[in-house]
Amino acid sequence: MSLRELRIAKENQGVHNFSAGPCILPNEVMEKAAESVINLDGIGLSILEISHRSKEFVAIIERARTLVRETMNLPDNYEVLFLQGGASYLSIITAQNYLSKEGTGAYVNSGTWARNSMNDAKVFGNIIEIASSESTQFNTYPELKDLPTDVDYIHITSNNTIAGNQIKNFPKTDIPLICDMSSDIFSRDIDVSQFAMIYAGAQKNLGPSGATLVIVNKDKLGQTDREIPRLMDLRNHIEKESMLNTPPCFSIYVSLLNLEWMIKNGGVEEMKKRCLERSELLYQEIDGNPLFEAHVSDLDSRSKMNVCFTLKDSSLNEEFITSCEKAKISGIKGHRSVGGYRASMYNAMSIESTKALVNVMKTFKL
Ligand code: PMP
Repeated sequence: MSLRELRIAKENQGVHNFSAGPCILPNEVMEKAAESVINLDGIGLSILEISHRSKEFVAIIERARTLVRETMNLPDNYEVLFLQGGASYLSIITAQNYLSKEGTGAYVNSGTWARNSMNDAKVFGNIIEIASSESTQFNTYPELKDLPTDVDYIHITSNNTIAGNQIKNFPKTDIPLICDMSSDIFSRDIDVSQFAMIYAGAQKNLGPSGATLVIVNKDKLGQTDREIPRLMDLRNHIEKESMLNTPPCFSIYVSLLNLEWMIKNGGVEEMKKRCLERSELLYQEIDGNPLFEAHVSDLDSRSKMNVCFTLKDSSLNEEFITSCEKAKISGIKGHRSVGGYRASMYNAMSIESTKALVNVMKTFKL
């Protein structure tokens, strides 16, 4: 079967992929990525077998960085990096690069990954929690008021993938604001100048797992008195243009293809519209259907990317999963810490998939 035939066969299978990450990517991106594994742009070599310093790969990473820069309208003093290590690694990088020996890092505990970031940072010094919704299983985004003015940085997580809450308005502060945007980057308007650093594991709205996108204000680095290991110092990564060590080449290449797909399809503006449409449709069903209940009840805190819900009668769980399977709905099971169901609806998802899920819910137990 040719790659094209494989892609068409996959499309005809009609699986609706609600996976939380790694997750859905556009089929045309995957087809092109698959081609590149055999022969990258007809150069007679695979993307998997060329040097990261080859002119072909340097052009790829440069273009990916430029597209991020243009898409997010970055001020000149911001740099774009593609690093290894995932979002979890970046939470450690955060503490290394922004926390001084006697200083304090402030964290908003809005979900499992936010809490992990906070706990990981504790190894390096004084870390405080400034807001939390943990006592209610993160069923709301914690209220942010009276942010500290005497800390080295404030860390927030914009969208909490597991509990399905999301911050709607980013806080304004003079303290360096660091944001883990792993699960909602490229789905909303961002004024990057509000942040000292934004990071995101690629494996949701950007590409396959492997790369971590970092957008960093150069002027806010180098303020700590801490000795930073060479590979963890963001200034070194900036100086070497993401090539301090071998970058995750394939993941970066697919991220580039996906960025191009996004731009061709209307950019963040259109992605924003689509994710609003999908999430509104699903929340409407959850709220209107007496069998279901949203995990996040506070309307203002509801995620547009990860919609978490439960069946009020948990004895129906198995039956509901069977109905989903019959309708080819995949990846809908909630995270084990929350239970129930989670519909992750990232940029590549079509509204038809959301409609398929809503239809299962509408007809369930009729
Ligand atoms: N932050 C958020 C918001 C996440 O959803 C995840 C999981 N993908 C992580 C951090 C951890 O990411 P990684 O597995 O790339 O370290």
